[in-house]
Amino acid sequence: MHYVSTRGHTAAQTFSEILLAGLAPDGGLYLPAEYPTVTSAELDAWRKLSYADLAFEILRKFATDIPEGDLKALISKTYTAEVYCNARAGDDASRITPLCTLEEGKQGSLLLQALSNGPTLAFKDMAMQLIGNLFEYTLAKNNAELNILGATSGDTGSAAEYAMRGKKGIRVFMLSPHGKMSAFQTAQMFSLQDPNIFNIAVKGVFDDCQDIVKAVSNDHAFKAARKIGTVNSINWARVVAQVVYYFRGYLSATTSNEQKVSFTVPSGNFGNICAGHIARMMGLPIDQLVAATNENDVLDEFFRTGVYRVRKSAETWHTSSPSMDISKASNIERFIYDLLDGDAERLTKLFHKVETQGGFDLSGKPGSDGDEFAKVKQFGFVSGKSTHADRVATIQDVKARHGIVIDTHTADGLKVARQFMKPGVPMIVLETALPAKFNETIREALGEDAPRPVGFEHMEELPQRFEVMEAKVDAVKKFIAERTGG
Ligand SMILES: *Cc1c(COP(=O)(O)O)cnc(C)c1O
Repeated sequence: MHYVSTRGHTAAQTFSEILLAGLAPDGGLYLPAEYPTVTSAELDAWRKLSYADLAFEILRKFATDIPEGDLKALISKTYTAEVYCNARAGDDASRITPLCTLEEGKQGSLLLQALSNGPTLAFKDMAMQLIGNLFEYTLAKNNAELNILGATSGDTGSAAEYAMRGKKGIRVFMLSPHGKMSAFQTAQMFSLQDPNIFNIAVKGVFDDCQDIVKAVSNDHAFKAARKIGTVNSINWARVVAQVVYYFRGYLSATTSNEQKVSFTVPSGNFGNICAGHIARMMGLPIDQLVAATNENDVLDEFFRTGVYRVRKSAETWHTSSPSMDISKASNIERFIYDLLDGDAERLTKLFHKVETQGGFDLSGKPGSDGDEFAKVKQFGFVSGKSTHADRVATIQDVKARHGIVIDTHTADGLKVARQFMKPGVPMIVLETALPAKFNETIREALGEDAPRPVGFEHMEELPQRFEVMEAKVDAVKKFIAERTGG
């Protein structure tokens, strides 16, 4: 299996070669030269597999240059009931991503698939825990080191830190806006005492943190000397690790491959739902892929109109589902590549237009950049949007009717999912975080605290380890240099 860039200018590479890479050198995103396919006989055989065994069957189709014994061992130590132990009361942790049926009725059935039972209580652990083990393995093989530099407003940073803590050959330098994260998110990151994890609280906002990361990454000499890397949402291995739970969800909700299911995905950067698209391209019988957005509706606009329009910071809202507060949907480039039938030249033109004019238009209307919007439905994509009032109402409704507390992102998903239910086609809503992480909105909706998983009760009281720093690139560089060998 070889990988190519969506912009077409790089030589084919192996899975291990792109594992530690972010963007391809031509600025594009990596994709397999062609998607592996799955037969009905394979699907049947996979029905009875554990999550880890299923993950191995899928990932061996993509990571063909890692010896199978090694790959299997890495996957087996990742997807265990001990790592994904934070299941809601009544759910079975050994199933890693258990399904819970909310409704079965004339309009079809509505299910939740729990993806947030990992150490940081958000779905990013599903891929990031595997990435931690894959990175450690690959670095050891090449006798190499990696210093991960990132900026976070919450979920990504903590998932990366919990995946990389204690890993040989890896350090994490994570920038966050000082005093701007929730008490829970701050405690989750800053209470880590592992010597390879460095929390840098920047006196500024999230954009200042992100600007510093960009400035450091653009200093190519420093980047090479200090072996700086990233694990952002465009990393291919993160996307492909997420393909597994779409298969798991399908196989758990059906008894025969004649059946179809739909998925609704609370979406921001299009990383999660991109994995659903890949599962569908591999032959998984998915009917609809429903992209649910919050007030930051870049994706909803595209899937309703064919117009992709990046938002300016002044029109990017801070909402109560903050992990979906995005101004552009980085991974959509992977879908556009498939929508254009792999025409890298046209794709490059479109994404240049994103940089120069803020977007492109595939609606087919006079003056637009193409008419491929007409083909979007063939890929199963539809979309909808949800607001703060919808989240609060949905959280209240689910608590009242089912006795379950869901988080704000999942609430966006559920609200939108209801618009696309069909008789005979189970609708699976991906639960992307546990409510304890976003307690402020749970209190607003329910007048009570969200349930806290065992072990998280006194997290805010633990000693914290972090460095407060001015929003200055040189200060961050000096800090990194001092901790990476002088
Ligand atoms: C990151 C995140 C999302 C958005 O996922 P994308 O892959 O960026 O679309 C949704 N919900 C939660 C809780 C998240 O942490």
